[in-house]
Amino acid sequence: MRVFINPGHALGGNPDPGCVNPALHLRECDLTITYGSLCGKYLEAAGCEVRLLQSHNLAGESPGYPCVVEAANAWEADVFVSIHVNAGGGRGVMEHPTFSVLRNTNMPAVLVETGFIDSDDVGVLTLHGDEIARALARGVTDYWKTI
Ligand SMILES: [Zn+2]
Repeated sequence: MRVFINPGHALGGNPDPGCVNPALHLRECDLTITYGSLCGKYLEAAGCEVRLLQSHNLAGESPGYPCVVEAANAWEADVFVSIHVNAGGGRGVMEHPTFSVLRNTNMPAVLVETGFIDSDDVGVLTLHGDEIARALARGVTDYWKTI
């Protein structure tokens, strides 16, 4: 199974770090690349082929940066996982079929908000990144068993 992992927002945070928690000097882009890299290692250990791309160019809107959707489609991934951290709290599980990475990818795709950077979740986000990565990988391998 080919798994395309998209840690949210721009590599290195420039120009788009995603959500931030200035008091704790946390940026979404740093958390998601950590989770995505770890998740990829677990998926490779489980026998998956993995590609990882962090870019704020989701579907061609930021020329000059690698295009996430184009890369996933060209590679013919079997599943696409976009990893994010949210702010503002209280959304719960929601469907967002209009998200570019969900609408424009040719394969089953999911966008995961792992927690809220500006809430009590921040302890989970910073201290339990490995568990988050394992859970993401397990979600993919569980899906793999169903297809
Ligand atoms: Zn995000």
